[in-house]
Amino acid sequence: MRCELCYLDEIVGDLTEEFEAMAFSALVTLKSSIRVSQPLNVVGDSDQLYRLVSNLIVNAIKYTQKGGNVTVVLDRNDHHAVIQVQDTGIGIPQEDLKRIFDRFYRVDSDRSRSNGGSGLGLAIAQAIVQAHHGSLSVQSELGTGSTFIIYLPRVVV
Ligand code: ATP
Ligand code: MG
Repeated sequence: MRCELCYLDEIVGDLTEEFEAMAFSALVTLKSSIRVSQPLNVVGDSDQLYRLVSNLIVNAIKYTQKGGNVTVVLDRNDHHAVIQVQDTGIGIPQEDLKRIFDRFYRVDSDRSRSNGGSGLGLAIAQAIVQAHHGSLSVQSELGTGSTFIIYLPRVVV
């Protein structure tokens, strides 16, 4: 893993642009909300951080119905950078929440089955977060939407 200074506001901004076309064709509105006035830095591997956030954005678009919204929020607290990927999608049943980070686990619903995918995206996301000494959690309500929250230790430069 590379160890360099990574600019999260750039990563979030770039990815929101990059996935605009995917969201547009799914008839989903993708927005970012950067709630920091200064650049927000973490030390790590920027390729991996791009992959982490893109896996969550792709899921949010994939598991949200037409007309829904996906918002990527960047914020900070005293010691952490906080990235939230919020969607107004299909949501995840309570009993599946613990297992969605397991390799190859996919919720057994028509929608996620019909979408294809290997069930690896969140396992990879979790591994990347752990390699950066952060944490990844999810809050979800079936039929209402999901929010994935990443905490990464931030550096002050
Ligand atoms: P891929 O390997 O292509 O990412 P995948 O999207 O099925 O395949 P994961 O990203 O690991 O795999 O997600 C695991 C499962 O968790 C999904 O199959 C889906 O059932 C559920 N899931 C993940 N993100 C969301 C979300 N934002 N809304 C609803 N369900 C989700
Ligand atoms: Mg996925």
